[in-house]
Amino acid sequence: MNSVISMAYLFSAVMFILSLGGLSTHETARRGNYYGMVGMAVAIIATVAGITSGAYLPVAIAMGVGAVVGIHLARKVEMTAMPQLVALLHSFVGLAAVLIGWGGYLDPRVNLVGAAHIVHNTEIFIGVFIGAITLTGSIVAFGKLQGLISGKPLMLPARHWLNLIAILVCVLLGAWFIPADVGPTTIVYLLVMTSIALLLGIHLIAAIGGADMPVVISMLNSYSGWAAAATGFMLSNDLLIVIGALVGSSGAILSYIMCRGMNRSFISVILGGFGSDGEVAGGDGEVEGEVVATSHDELAEDLRNAESIVIVPGFGMAVAHAQQAVSDLTDKLRKAGKTVRFGIHPVAGRLPGHMNVLLAEANVPYDIVLEMEEINDDLPKTDLVLVIGANDTVNPDAVEKPGSPIAGMPVLEVWKAGKVVVLKRSMASGYAGVANPLFYKENSRMLFGDAKESLQSVLGKLNPA
Ligand code: NDP
Repeated sequence: MNSVISMAYLFSAVMFILSLGGLSTHETARRGNYYGMVGMAVAIIATVAGITSGAYLPVAIAMGVGAVVGIHLARKVEMTAMPQLVALLHSFVGLAAVLIGWGGYLDPRVNLVGAAHIVHNTEIFIGVFIGAITLTGSIVAFGKLQGLISGKPLMLPARHWLNLIAILVCVLLGAWFIPADVGPTTIVYLLVMTSIALLLGIHLIAAIGGADMPVVISMLNSYSGWAAAATGFMLSNDLLIVIGALVGSSGAILSYIMCRGMNRSFISVILGGFGSDGEVAGGDGEVEGEVVATSHDELAEDLRNAESIVIVPGFGMAVAHAQQAVSDLTDKLRKAGKTVRFGIHPVAGRLPGHMNVLLAEANVPYDIVLEMEEINDDLPKTDLVLVIGANDTVNPDAVEKPGSPIAGMPVLEVWKAGKVVVLKRSMASGYAGVANPLFYKENSRMLFGDAKESLQSVLGKLNPA
C-alpha cells in the first residue's frame, strides 16, 4: 500500500510542476489549472488512503466542512476581493503549521532519542516559527486589503532593532529548546517563541506601506509555502514538502519580479515600505494646474478621431466590472481600423496578473495586451490613452518628483501621449494614497463616473457611426 501511495504522491508532484509551467502563459493557463486540480484530487485520495489510525470520521467531517466553506467562497467572492481571500487562506496554512507543530511536540507517543530527537525538535521549532509569522502577517495583510486596518505603515521607534531582538531571542530559545527533552520548561520556550513570532508577523506586515502591498502578498505566499514544507517535515509527508518548496520558491521568485517591476530592493520592502518615513497616506495634495472634465460625447469624438489608442486598466476596472465593456469597445474600434493595444502595469489592480485575468475573461485577444515596458516607448506616438480606473500606476510623480512617496516606481508614462482621458468617479487617490498630477496635465481630460456606465454610454454613442 505504501508504495502505491508514494507513486500517487510522485504523480501529484509532477502534476503540480506541470501546473506551474502551464500557468506561466495565457494560452496554457487553463490546462495548468486542470493539472493542478488532478494533482490535488490524487493527493487528497492518497493522503486519506494512507490514514493508519482509522480516524476516518474526523477527517471526513473536516473535509466536508472545508468543502462547503470553499465552494461557498469560490461562488460568492468578487474578483476585487480575491487578494483579501488569498491573504486569509495563507493565514490558514500558517495556523496549520503552528497547530501541527504543537500537536507533534505534545504527542505522548513520540519517543525519539539522539539525532532523530534533534531533527524532530528542529522541525517543530522552525515550523511553528514560520507558521506563526505567516498566520498573523496574513491576517494583517487581509485587514489592510479589506480596509479594516489603515494602509499607512506602522512606524514604531527603533523598529528594526525590535525585529532583530525578537529574532535573536527566538534563536536563543531554539538553542535551549532543540536538545532538551519535553518538559514544562521546553513548553514555556515554545510558548514564548510562538508569542514572539505571532507579534513579529503583525509588526513586519504592519510596517509595510500602501504601494508595497503587492510584494507583501507574494512574500506571504512564499512564507505559506515554507510553512507547508515545514509541516511536511513534521508529518513525514514527502508530497507536502515538495508542494511547500514549490509554493515557497515560486512565491519568492514572484516577490523578486514584483520588486524589480517596482524598482525596489526586496530587503527594503521587508524592512518597511514605500514612504517608510510615514508619509504615504494623504500624499502631498498640492498639485498645480487645472482639472478639465470631458463628456461621453466628447470621448466618442476623440475615439473617432484617434488612429492609435492605448487602454490602461487599473483597479477601478475591476471594481466597476467594466472588462466586458472594455472588450466590446476594443472590438468596435479595431473593426473601424484603429490600432488598439493595452498597457499593463505589473502591480495594476490588487493581485499579480489581476488585469490579465479580467481581460482574458472578457476575451480580449492576448496579442494586444502588452506589459508596461513593451508599450512605454510607444506612448509618445499614441494619439489617445484611455486610463480606466488606474491611478498609482500612471502617476507622473513616480518619475518626476524624487521626494514623492512613490518615487522610483516605474509607471506607464501615459501623459506623453497626444491626449489622455481618465475614467474614474472622483478626484480620490489610489491605493498608495498619493495625489496624482496626471489629472492636472494640459493634455488630460477627466471622465467622471463609474467606468462601466461611462464606457457603455460611449459605446452607444459610437454605434451609429
Ligand atoms: P489604484 O488603486 O491606484 O486606483 C484605482 C482607481 O480606480 C481609484 O483611484 C478609484 O478612483 C478608481 N475607481 C474605483 N472604482 C471605480 C469605478 N467603479 N469606476 C471607475 N473608477 C473607479 O489602481 P492601480 O491599478 O493604478 O494601482 C494599483 C495599486 O494597488 C498600486 O498602488 C499597487 O501597489 C497596489 N496594490 C497592488 C497589488 C497587486 O498585486 N497588483 C496588491 C496590493 C496593492 P475613484 O474612487 O475616484 O473612482
